[in-house]
Amino acid sequence: MSASIDAGATAAAFRQLYGGEPDGVWAAPGRVNLIGEHTDYNDGFVMPLALPHSTVAAARRRDDGVLRIHSGDAPTGVVELRIADLDPVTVGGDRGGWAAYPAGVLWALRRGGLDAGGADIHYDSDVPTGAGLSSSAALEVSTALLLNDLYGLGQSAQQLASWCQKAENDFVGVPSGIMDQTASACCTEGHALYLDTRDLTARQVPFDLAAEGLSLLVVDTQVKHALGDGEYAKRRAGCEEGARILGVRALRDVPFGSLPSALARIDDPVIRGLVRHVVTEDRRVEEVITLLDAGRTREIGPVLVAGHESLRDDFTVSCPELDLVVSSAVAAGALGARMTGGGFGGSAIVLAEASEADAIRVAVEKAFASASYRAPRTFAAVPGPGARRLR
Ligand code: ADP
Ligand code: MG
Repeated sequence: MSASIDAGATAAAFRQLYGGEPDGVWAAPGRVNLIGEHTDYNDGFVMPLALPHSTVAAARRRDDGVLRIHSGDAPTGVVELRIADLDPVTVGGDRGGWAAYPAGVLWALRRGGLDAGGADIHYDSDVPTGAGLSSSAALEVSTALLLNDLYGLGQSAQQLASWCQKAENDFVGVPSGIMDQTASACCTEGHALYLDTRDLTARQVPFDLAAEGLSLLVVDTQVKHALGDGEYAKRRAGCEEGARILGVRALRDVPFGSLPSALARIDDPVIRGLVRHVVTEDRRVEEVITLLDAGRTREIGPVLVAGHESLRDDFTVSCPELDLVVSSAVAAGALGARMTGGGFGGSAIVLAEASEADAIRVAVEKAFASASYRAPRTFAAVPGPGARRLR
């Protein structure tokens, strides 16, 4: 899979579709999360980086209250919506299909009192969809950014991310946290983004893999287990129940040092596992930050593996394919590996010496072939730029 951003090609497709020039072309990337999984709806810490893969949107403002959208990746043709009719009940969720994401962004901006209007938009994307790499956030954030520019809304990147989260939660109906949209909107090239999801303070942490002779592989298992969506909601509800039992606003407020006594107060073993994962995962983010700040990048490997084991055993969101990526990569000499994203399929990341990355990729592919799993798709992630205007 190659990552390519071609503003000219997207503008040409726009011209062919709608006639005339677009007012501009914008891009927003997918992401992988280095560490801090299932913490963003617990007010915790995350550390995503932007992929070189992006959604590119060519757009032109229109002032007649109509939104027209088209995606090279959707078989729907041009979808035309009247802004006055945008409603989460009648247009959102499953009814809207893919169009619910961009329509939801416009709806969320307007509901927030911002004077965004219609547009003609054409999207091209090379972010794999449904692979845990946040194609949904790339679609939302590219839309928010182009509307911000076309209508002079004056919103910061983080504010746009928050509108996109509202679109996904309240219009599309997916109860996701703030990480994906913030990553797509706010990441910078060569860095991972250390984000406190409670107050949204962020720090760009240098993560220059090439300079250190390291490689970060993203292995897309190409599986998506059907139980994913309902199970995500169950985990969220379980985390809220854990916080309620412990009398804290969110699990982020349980200090690592008091974890044993906190766990002793929870009878349900399932909730205990959820709490243990979130509290130890927040701790692992801190460990990774400390190591990266000290220039000890290789040493984050075991922390990644511990994170995977916690997601597998305590949070129970892994699956055999993701476990096999991790075990086969580590057996082949990887420094560390873990599932990334929500789980139940999707992608895993593998940290390796650059000189060994190819042999590790082959070893993972062999392990998949031996298990009779579908061949995974692997690419090397270099931290790319966040959302931006291309022309
Ligand atoms: P992920 O965000 O991990 O890729 P999601 O299930 O959250 O997975 O979002 C995937 C959905 O987002 C797709 O099913 C589709 O509806 C929509 N989507 C994402 N990118 C595009 C695109 N370029 N064109 C059309 N729809 C897209
Ligand atoms: Mg998504």
